[in-house]
Amino acid sequence: MTTEVLSAPATPATPGAAPVRDTGAEALENAQAQLSAAVQTLGFSNGLHQHLAKARREMTVGIPLRRDDDSVEMLTGYRVQHNFSRGPAKGGLRYSPNVSLDEVRALAMWMTWKCSLLNVPYGGAKGGITIDPRNYSQRELERVTRRYTSEILPIIGPDKDIPAPDIGTDEQTMAWMMDTYSVNVGYTVPSVVTGKPVSVGGSLGRPSATSRGVVHIALAALNHAGLAPARSTAVVQGFGKVGAGAAGFLADAGVRVVAVGDQYGAIHAAEGLDIRSLTDHVRTTGSVVGFPGSDPIPSDVLLELDVDLLVPAAVEGVLHADNAARVQAKVIVEGANGPTTTAADRIFADNGILVVPDILANAGGVIVSYFEWVQGNQAYWWTAAEVEERLESRMLAAWHNVLTVANRRSLNLREAATVTAVERVAEARQIRGLYP
Ligand code: NAD
Repeated sequence: MTTEVLSAPATPATPGAAPVRDTGAEALENAQAQLSAAVQTLGFSNGLHQHLAKARREMTVGIPLRRDDDSVEMLTGYRVQHNFSRGPAKGGLRYSPNVSLDEVRALAMWMTWKCSLLNVPYGGAKGGITIDPRNYSQRELERVTRRYTSEILPIIGPDKDIPAPDIGTDEQTMAWMMDTYSVNVGYTVPSVVTGKPVSVGGSLGRPSATSRGVVHIALAALNHAGLAPARSTAVVQGFGKVGAGAAGFLADAGVRVVAVGDQYGAIHAAEGLDIRSLTDHVRTTGSVVGFPGSDPIPSDVLLELDVDLLVPAAVEGVLHADNAARVQAKVIVEGANGPTTTAADRIFADNGILVVPDILANAGGVIVSYFEWVQGNQAYWWTAAEVEERLESRMLAAWHNVLTVANRRSLNLREAATVTAVERVAEARQIRGLYP
């Protein structure tokens, strides 16, 4: 069942050109470095370290797609299940041209730590298809999703592994997955995915959960750093499901969002961007670029603006050794998974920048995914207010817990969060024992 397709080493496209960064391999390196640091703090054996470092199951599938013009194209998809010690695996499904097995491995490992840190009863997984969804029709994306779901069907299920949306996928993708799974097993199984539409068993509050959670943590972090949110400025990179929502909730809390960016470019307005109008602009044009009343700025400058808060909410590895020293934000709250490399983390620590790690900051999505799964299992749905209240209370409990561990063990927030999460997974693994 398992085939390994390792990404090719990064090589210059033309002689003399800078090497192309293999961001998937870098993400995996960063995830492994974070685990190694936690293992060292916890004094774990080499055997336990190896156990935690390796995914339990990896599946690579070929996806033949019949395009609308009747030609056939082969795509590649992955599902990596990193750990099941605390429960069924849980993690998003990404559609992006950059998806690689290494990237999915890193993201799956981070999901294990995130679920553990937030005390939701899951292990970690992640999936991806190497595809740029912008180049395909909805009908083609439906065929890709259904074929991928059929291929990974033996290893997913409400008690096995529960996918959810990530970059390039949405509620509609989850509805197709849920339907394909249900048709194949012969009855409707809403809880095989989360992040699905409310009309097929989704939870109120799921679409906004990640960005709401990011903002609960961002406001707590600003206050912790002695910065009043109502007098603070912010930059958000990525204006998709996480970034656009985070920018909107920050603005609602009185934070002045002065610049945002997406894969097409970045914009700036010193007096603050009107996020609702900007969201409408993105809905009609597909990008933040050209928003009336804003000035275009280079995408790399976006991350280096002199603001109080930086929320990277796009992709991995955007804060790295080459730009970290130029970052002026006082607080970084990771909306994206893995936006900061290990080298950049060191520079931020030296420069006194407070970094709130992804596994804490963007965990709102998996918390409400858990709520969705619980509601689906009980066939009893909560109000939006109940969901939002429980989300906030879980996020803030995790924030305080991480601060306490950081103080007690003299660690930074990423180290404290990872140590807490890894220790819980290891405890579950030890108490279950090793079979046979
Ligand atoms: P999305 O597809 O809805 O949006 C992604 C955004 O990032 C888009 O605005 C896109 O233009 C932009 N982008 C892509 N590449 C970029 C680049 N190189 N530079 C600048 N901008 C770029 O995806 P999303 O769901 O918002 O996910 C964003 C991040 O948040 C990912 O790291 C994802 O893993 C993480 N995350 C998402 C959720 C969730 O519930 N959706 C939960 C936890 C973490």
